[in-house]
Order: sequence, then structure tokens, then C-alpha cells
Amino acid sequence: MTLSITSAFDGGNIALVSTSGSMAELEIVKDHQSDFYQWFYFRVTGCAGKDLTLAITNAGKSAYPQGWDNYQARVSSDREDWYLTETDYSDGTLTIRHSADADTLWFAYFAPYTIERHYDLVSEIAARDGVSHASLGQTLDGRELDYFSIGTGDLSVWLYARQHPGETMAEWWMEGALDRLTDPADPIARVLRDKATFHVVPNMNPDGSARGHLRTNAVGTNLNREWHQPTPEKSPEVLWVLNHMDKTGVDFAMDVHGDEAIPANFIAGFEGIPSWTERQGALYDAYLAALLKASPDFQTKLGYPVAKPRKGNLSMSTNQVAERFDCVAMTLEMPFKDNHELPDADFGWSGERCALLGRACLAALLDIIDDLRA
Ligand code: ZN
Repeated sequence: MTLSITSAFDGGNIALVSTSGSMAELEIVKDHQSDFYQWFYFRVTGCAGKDLTLAITNAGKSAYPQGWDNYQARVSSDREDWYLTETDYSDGTLTIRHSADADTLWFAYFAPYTIERHYDLVSEIAARDGVSHASLGQTLDGRELDYFSIGTGDLSVWLYARQHPGETMAEWWMEGALDRLTDPADPIARVLRDKATFHVVPNMNPDGSARGHLRTNAVGTNLNREWHQPTPEKSPEVLWVLNHMDKTGVDFAMDVHGDEAIPANFIAGFEGIPSWTERQGALYDAYLAALLKASPDFQTKLGYPVAKPRKGNLSMSTNQVAERFDCVAMTLEMPFKDNHELPDADFGWSGERCALLGRACLAALLDIIDDLRA
């Protein structure tokens, strides 16, 4: 059988250049109306018994080429378990090698989180007791921006994920966080629901998710550079969320992402905002200390450089929200590679581990919840 390769499905991304025997030459496709690319997700049929060599020849000009060093692609035969497979990066080409044991295999940058799985998650969570589900508005492709309100407390906690759609780990994190938050028996969730109302947007960028984008929405907008002045034409997703935040207020916000290069879980704060206060800084430090205790998968040694005072970029969500609401806001970053301090040789950083970190992030919030009351 000759190899047949496609990405014409929910969240797929690849362009086939050529095949020859057990080899294929491939290119990742740019986000629509944008130059960003790095997310790939494709299906290979006709591969049983072959030693596959899949060469992505435009990897060197992707958004974050440093993300390919010490990186391993994911492969699955059932689209449930996503295993690491042999991957090399040199001379601008990412080469995936795999001894195929099935007729059809699926390859991806990270365990995919499709828009259909998003709808399954939304339906399941919406049916649980104490959950209110709504759409904050429609996207440019006509999808709903799904939103949950959970809890009865007077504090306002916002959790939102996947502004960057190729960072699928962010919605795996949401599965864990939402499962815990809606558990009627979980004592941490019970106390949190009593003290706070949670406003949750599990997928900020459903259009980009369905289109197989790395970083942008249907018209090529990087949503995490729009928070100073979102528009209905370019960034309605941000506009709908920010409008609702203006109604609810914000005491604590977490924006969930993935990072291509750094092999660790880390948090970026809001040190550079114009009206930073010691109170905000102390709450932020206390949350990091609580999360360090709550999960050995979290660390504070590796991360982004801290912004200088008053040099923060207010187009980014965390900075805009911390400045606008005088609250503690943060960006959680999870790796595409693995947590180098606690590696998993079979799966690397995985959807399951994202979900566990989501649960831990709520446990850490319990530590500081009373201190959020100004
Ligand atoms: Zn991101």
C-alpha cells in the first residue's frame, strides 16, 4: 500500500508534499491570514509494517523553532492514548520516525483537543448540578463562545483557556479543573463554590481550534494581543469576555496556555502593570507558593523574564485584567515537551497530567481565597 496522508478533519493541519515508499515530505500550514504555524495533526494510512520517516521540511521557519529541540511528536492508533515517538530536528527539518504496527496512525504536535471533544465537555459539565451554561457571543465562524458560571460566593474568579488554539494542553487542564469544580462531594470545591463564583471559558478560540491553527482566530488575530482594545471585527472572543468581566468584576484570574520551548510548568505574572500594588504582588507570590506545595509538576525556576516596572504589555490578558480590576491575574504555561524534572518516557507531558494540574491549581486557590477579599 502507498502511504496516504490527510488533515481534512477537526483540528487537522498538514500539507503533503510527496511520498516515496515509507517516507513522506510534509509542511505545516500557516494560520489563515497569518504567518504563524507550528501545530500539526494528521492521519497516515497504509503504514502497517513500515518504518515510517515523516519529514516536516518547513519546521525551521515555524513560530518557535527552539520548540523543536529535544521535542518528541505524539502518535496514536486509537486517538485516546498519545505516545511519544522518535523525533529529530536538524537543518530546519523535523523528522518523525515510527515503526508502524497499525494500518492507520495519527500524528500530532500534542494530544489534540478537538472541537467535538469541546462540545462533549460542554454538554457534560452543563448537565451537572449548580452549573449555569451560556454563550457570551458568537465567533467570526459562527461558533458559540461557551461560558460556565459555577458557585455562589461573592468573590469573582475567572478561568479561561486556549486563546492560542494549538495549545491544546490548556483545554485538557480545563477538563480536570471543571471536573473538580463541579464535584458535589469534593471538599475543596465545596468551599471554593461557597466563597466564590467561578466564571469559566474552556475554549477562548473555537474557530482556531477547528481550523487547526497554532495561535490565531478565523481572521488571523492573536487574541492575547487584543485585550487593550478588542473589536467585533478582529477579536470578538476577547470583547465578549472582557465585557462580561466588566459586569462581574475580577478578584482572581488564570489564563491557561502552553509553551513550545520550556520543558516545565510555570506561571507568568503582571509585574509590569502601571498601578501594580504590594497587595497584588503578595497575593501572586502566595499563590505560587501554594501551587508549589499542591503539585510537584509545578516549579518556579524556569519561566519568562519578569517585566520591568511599568513596562508591561497591556494588550496581553493577564496584564490588562490585573490592571483593570486591581486583582491578581496570571498566565499558566504548560510544556509541549515534558516536565524535565518529572519526565514520563511513554507519554511526556500529557492530557491526563494537564487535568491533574488543573485540579491542583484549584487546591492552591483554596490557600489564598480568603486573602482575595480586599
Ligand atoms: Zn499561548
